[in-house]
Amino acid sequence: MSYALVVSEVRRGIFEERNLDSIGLCALLGKDAILLIPEGDYGMNGQLVDGLLKAKVEEAVFLNPLNMVKILEKVMVARGKPDTIVLTNSSSGNELASYAAGYFNLPIITDVNSYDKEQGIFYKSYYSDKIFGEFKPSGDGTSIVTVRSGSFKEFAADKGAAPSVETIEDVAVSTARTFMEFVEEEKTDVDITKAEFLLSLGRGIGNKDEIPDYEELAGMLKAVISGSRPVIDKLWLPKARQVGTSGKTVKPKVYLAMGISGAFQHIAGMKDSDCIIAVNKDAEAPIFQYAHYGIIADIHKVRDKLKDILKG
Ligand SMILES: Cc1cc2nc3c(=O)[nH]c(=O)nc-3n(C[C@H](O)[C@H](O)[C@H](O)COP(=O)(O)OP(=O)(O)OC[C@H]3O[C@@H](n4cnc5c(N)ncnc54)[C@H](O)[C@@H]3O)c2cc1C
Repeated sequence: MSYALVVSEVRRGIFEERNLDSIGLCALLGKDAILLIPEGDYGMNGQLVDGLLKAKVEEAVFLNPLNMVKILEKVMVARGKPDTIVLTNSSSGNELASYAAGYFNLPIITDVNSYDKEQGIFYKSYYSDKIFGEFKPSGDGTSIVTVRSGSFKEFAADKGAAPSVETIEDVAVSTARTFMEFVEEEKTDVDITKAEFLLSLGRGIGNKDEIPDYEELAGMLKAVISGSRPVIDKLWLPKARQVGTSGKTVKPKVYLAMGISGAFQHIAGMKDSDCIIAVNKDAEAPIFQYAHYGIIADIHKVRDKLKDILKG
């Protein structure tokens, strides 16, 4: 049987949204999508795929690549080799993908964001999406692909029917690496990834004492405050508010960047926002290359002017 094996991402008993991208790629590949999950109930996952394989192991065991390759081996013996093993481009997905590629000696393509069905070419991007690379797995055996979140969701097949369900038992568990515990993410008042309007502050605000005035503006705009890394490193804003490669990726309707230069580590976290407005006193600031609207001015003056207008 020609099939694509989706190794599901679960997070503390929750079926992760980004699996939809993996299933979406399977819909494009035109293969039967067989979803591999650890034992437990993960809600809606079965309705989108052709088959469900439940490995009789706990989630923490499932996340360990040393165990996962044994599970994959069992699947391949029972069902034959999949054409593609599809994983999410996440820390656990990439860890397993690279380990499995070495273990089974298979070609691997990570962080794929597009696929050309006619030519069988996978695409990934480099340098903050400035250039693209085209890849074709060699040979006609199994290849491993990790999928960038948000790339294939719209293609997710709406199967509706109940998939076949099989259980994989007696998995040999490796003791070479022991799972210790899940550590809770810092609890915060807001989730900047859910905000529709972000007022993002950069080093250009000058000092921490300016924050309350920007918070007041954010309140008037019904915006949520976020920031660039220096603002977080200086402890002017909490870590959960950081946008960028070492912070969060956001996609609000409006991203108003004030006093942010536009380093690529920042741009990578906000470039897909629907409307980017940048305020910076430096006309050459890189952020203007990504902004839909740019204001070359002192940010404090723009802040105060906006407040006056909104008060009026
Ligand atoms: C491994 C690594 C990971 C990183 N991850 C991230 C990340 O996740 N997020 C992130 O943001 N950065 C990250 N960085 C840092 C990144 O490289 C930049 O240093 C950072 O984004 C710069 O922040 P900024 O734009 O606020 O500050 P600056 O680059 O200092 O820019 C300040 C801007 O404010 C303008 N300005 C100053 N005063 C005013 C004024 N009164 N009115 C108008 N404009 C004014 C200036 O013209 C300037 O353009 C990372 C770096 C590394 C090495």
